[in-house]
Amino acid sequence: MSLNPLDLFDIRSQLGEDEQLVQDSVARLVDEKVLPVIGRCFEEHRFPREIVPELAALGLLGVYLRGYGCAGLNAVSYGLICQELERGDSGIRSFVSVQTSLCMYPIHAYGSEEQKQKYLPAMARGELIGCFGLTEPHGGSDPANMKTHAKRRGGDWVLNGAKMWITNGNIADLAIVWAMTEEGIRGFIVEKSMAGFSATEIEHKFSLRASVTSSLFFDNVVVPEANVLPGVVGLKGPLSCLTQARYGISWGVIGAAQACLAQLLDYTKSRVLFGRPLDNNQAIQLRLADHARRITTAQLLSLQLGRIKDSGRLNPTQVSLAKWNNCRMALDVARDCRDMLGGAGISAEYVPIRHMLNLESVITYEGTETIHQLTVGRELTGVGSF
Ligand SMILES: Cc1cc2nc3c(=O)[nH]c(=O)nc-3n(C[C@H](O)[C@H](O)[C@H](O)COP(=O)(O)OP(=O)(O)OC[C@H]3O[C@@H](n4cnc5c(N)ncnc54)[C@H](O)[C@@H]3O)c2cc1C
Repeated sequence: MSLNPLDLFDIRSQLGEDEQLVQDSVARLVDEKVLPVIGRCFEEHRFPREIVPELAALGLLGVYLRGYGCAGLNAVSYGLICQELERGDSGIRSFVSVQTSLCMYPIHAYGSEEQKQKYLPAMARGELIGCFGLTEPHGGSDPANMKTHAKRRGGDWVLNGAKMWITNGNIADLAIVWAMTEEGIRGFIVEKSMAGFSATEIEHKFSLRASVTSSLFFDNVVVPEANVLPGVVGLKGPLSCLTQARYGISWGVIGAAQACLAQLLDYTKSRVLFGRPLDNNQAIQLRLADHARRITTAQLLSLQLGRIKDSGRLNPTQVSLAKWNNCRMALDVARDCRDMLGGAGISAEYVPIRHMLNLESVITYEGTETIHQLTVGRELTGVGSF
């Protein structure tokens, strides 16, 4: 029996029937709706917003949350969804990650009943789009040092400051904004229509071009008490959201690496140099084998992480290790696949360069590689070095 080159250890056999169905339906969506348009979107620096209703119709927005119009699927299913979406493009997976893990999750986990009723069903239907404002212009790796602040004024809050590199910023109807208060860091649901709130798109990106990235500005924005997340104070609020999203990223990047390897297996079979197909050369086989090895280890890591998460025993350090390992794996695979394509590797006709450029963002956002390495180091030594 021959093995599936993209699933050498038969991860598929470890999935339940329902998990397989989820994976298959998202794979179909990506094949039919994402792959035909994504290359052009990347070139045009355009998020394909027309896909949002399709994502919503499949129940992918807020997929692991319970109630409020969300499907309540398990963590492994969420991971498989991220993997299939990122096989299409990191920008599409980023949209779903931000909407689900960075915006709907905090409202679900820390919001009042009124906030949940007001926002979650509409967000699950894709009628309201969210963004998550944590990073600030002076340094995202150190969010405790944030300058954005909110002060009480009567029954309201007055919000001032700026956020940078915010996915979905310009297309968002609401922003989950983390700001310093006298009580510590609090989460605010800032609506697009609130006076003094503005967003500016960051242009000229060479990465995640099929995704909207923005700066947010808050100039004396009056936020009613009803829009403050009552259930959390402190950095653990935003960090708990990031743990959810980073978990999804660890799966997502496997899809990007698989897309690159799949294309290279075809290309090296048909490209004839020195009188024989490229894949007949030992040096090429070594490289392809190494990519398959690294994809396989990433798959095993993420599946085990998903099972741990589903059993309720997840430790954020485990997520850091998986995000670090799998992003590094995918970026290295994409870069090397780009190289094995020769000159064709710089053309948008082939997927590796798009994935490679996207992965430069993915390895940076939601905690840089270094920050995740230092998180694992802190776990091992008991000493925080950052
Ligand atoms: C496309 C894109 C989308 C994004 N989307 C969002 C979003 O939706 N919401 C949001 O809030 N943020 C978002 N971000 C921001 C992202 O999370 C930050 O860019 C990231 O956390 C790094 O912060 P920074 O860019 O300020 O780099 P810095 O924190 O300035 O880091 C610069 C360098 O210093 C290194 N470094 C930092 N501290 C240490 C240390 N103690 N020891 C050694 N090295 C260190 C870092 O690893 C990095 O290499 C996005 C970023 C990108 C690129």
